[in-house]
Amino acid sequence: MHIKSLSTQLVNQIAAGEVVERPSSVIKELLENSFDAGAGQISIDIEQGGAGLIRVRDDGCGIDKDDLRLALARHATSKIASLNDLEQVNSMGFRGEALPSISSVSRLTLISRTADSDCAWAITADGTEQDVDPKPDPHPQGTTIEVRDLFYNTPARRKFLKTERTELNHIEGVVRRLALSQFETGLTMTHNQKMLLSLKPAQSEVQQEQRIAKILGSEFIGNAVRVEFEASGLQLAGWVGLPTFSRSQPDMQYFYVNSRMVRDKLVSHAIRRSEEHTSELQSHLN
Ligand code: ADP
Ligand code: MG
Repeated sequence: MHIKSLSTQLVNQIAAGEVVERPSSVIKELLENSFDAGAGQISIDIEQGGAGLIRVRDDGCGIDKDDLRLALARHATSKIASLNDLEQVNSMGFRGEALPSISSVSRLTLISRTADSDCAWAITADGTEQDVDPKPDPHPQGTTIEVRDLFYNTPARRKFLKTERTELNHIEGVVRRLALSQFETGLTMTHNQKMLLSLKPAQSEVQQEQRIAKILGSEFIGNAVRVEFEASGLQLAGWVGLPTFSRSQPDMQYFYVNSRMVRDKLVSHAIRRSEEHTSELQSHLN
């Protein structure tokens, strides 16, 4: 048996197996990149549950013309440069794997413009070939990434995509939890040209509660209290539903550590216990 090096395309497609499970994973990666770019406004356009088109446009810092190709190369990132950076990373990404993975299993167009460039530049990649020469484009400052025909070149994976409705549900779940982690960024989302979500940037507490109402329903925010707590250099803030509004399912629980979503059994359990205690207390008082 001989040992051979794998081609770049195959390496990326293998990595895509981990990074890109379905359309919603593409949305997650693209939104995180837009947040990392300091976007104030993001618009998402989806067609056919993401199998036809996923387009994310932001007004963030943009990518230099000379860096466009690197953005699609594996292990290339602007977010860390040393082990030391890794230990205090505060961006959502840093592995430099998302864009090369996505571009290896779709037809991808990347258009971007930085503040000090005269125009935007666009490159395309379709898994087999990269159009190496950036072309000028009238795009304003920021970045648009368009992902068409996801998994078109990996038929076995394309076949495993679920119905449009199911894939859209996954996408809405991802968008919801990311929108709750980044209040300062405005967000719109369309599906097959129909507006599904429109969230203004939310700075004040009132605006934040309006956003929560749009995402979790006005019933939740009408039955929740704001908590803020600080101890030993740690801050805890959020909204907690009143015991009278408790649900049997933990489907409306969202936890974030430094704006990153976490799922943690210990935390969920602590919340459940405190709810039980409060209702016990209440029944004693009544
Ligand atoms: P990572 O986010 O881990 O660095 P990605 O593959 O997601 O890796 O992106 C590669 C690089 O492309 C990023 O480090 C960043 O420099 C650039 N990039 C990607 N998306 C955007 C965006 N929306 N705005 C500005 N730069 C971006
Ligand atoms: Mg990223």
